[in-house]
Amino acid sequence: MPGTGTERVGELGSRETEEQTAERTLQALRKELDEINAEILRWLSRRAEVVLEIGRLKLRQGINRFDPVREKEMLDRLAAMNPGPFDDTTIRHIFKTIFAASLQLQKKEEGASLLVSRKRHPEDTVVEVGPVRIGAGVPAVVAGPCSVESYEQTRAVAEALREEGLTLLRGGAFKPRTSPYDFQGLGFDGLRILREVADEFGLKVVSEILAPEDLEMALPYIDVVQIGARNMQNFALLKAAGHIDRPVLLKRGLSATIEEFKYAAEYILAHGNPNVILCERGIRTFERATRNTLDISAVPILKAETHLPVCVDVTHAAGRRDILLPLAKAALAAGADALMIEVHPQPEVALSDAQQQVNIPDFRAWLEEIRQMFGGIV
Ligand code: PEP
Ligand code: MN
Repeated sequence: MPGTGTERVGELGSRETEEQTAERTLQALRKELDEINAEILRWLSRRAEVVLEIGRLKLRQGINRFDPVREKEMLDRLAAMNPGPFDDTTIRHIFKTIFAASLQLQKKEEGASLLVSRKRHPEDTVVEVGPVRIGAGVPAVVAGPCSVESYEQTRAVAEALREEGLTLLRGGAFKPRTSPYDFQGLGFDGLRILREVADEFGLKVVSEILAPEDLEMALPYIDVVQIGARNMQNFALLKAAGHIDRPVLLKRGLSATIEEFKYAAEYILAHGNPNVILCERGIRTFERATRNTLDISAVPILKAETHLPVCVDVTHAAGRRDILLPLAKAALAAGADALMIEVHPQPEVALSDAQQQVNIPDFRAWLEEIRQMFGGIV
């Protein structure tokens, strides 16, 4: 055993040396790999800086940050100069991933530089509608019928508003109905009723416009132009609303993300109108107990990320009248600057949204509860 033992030690000794050599080579290669990784990282970071610089330049010039032609050119060039061993498809894939990450970076920076962004404009925007200053601290209430149906119907609600010391009268003249066979609104006749009644009681009119071509003609009758949920991404309408000298109440789309909502508002600001009120009105979810799901978290997020006043339409969020008070309280507690509620002298016979409008006595009771909890409202 001792004799063979020495031999083994010798064999073992020479094997150990080979392993040690291999280990040293491996160590050296790993070190090289680490250096290459560090080098790639340095270049990736450098590349990201250049991309951001290009993004800033494009933003200043108003050019779209994503340029698919340029991206394809870069990928073709890289594939053409590919020395291997990766095949061209792999190279394209790797670089596409790098491009996508860079684009994401540009997008993030762009987000902070948006006109709606609080990073860019730290002070709260206050939207003035006659004597009402939306976003200045005192909650505002926008109330009125879903649709303007008649002079008498609209006047009854307006009178209640005046008696309650409120100013903002809503009413749909152009109605975005799901079915073309449902009541479409009185159109300009409805606007004329709103104006007449509002003037009688010293109120301001909030009403939806559906088409850019109606905007100009509607302006004499309207103090705040509402852009409805179904039109949140009607870019022609958003651009047109950017060119008017009237505040815009922009509703969140039925299935729009907060980011899409902010970009919709950005359209209006980018086209020259800084007076935008964001209105959360519930989003579509699987839940059927309510017409929509009031996204209460959108309120503090919009307040934190933008400088625009935020309104919450409790009526269209709920789609039922029995929970409008807790929703309103939740909205104000979450930081909303304004509330919207549909009020009709006889909700049961309303031509639209009959199941969700409140009658005038219930509206007054609702207001009273809010006043008790939050103090003054305008
Ligand atoms: C409305 O307020 O009249 C209306 C139609 O609401 P939305 O666009 O939120 O559905
Ligand atoms: Mn309605």
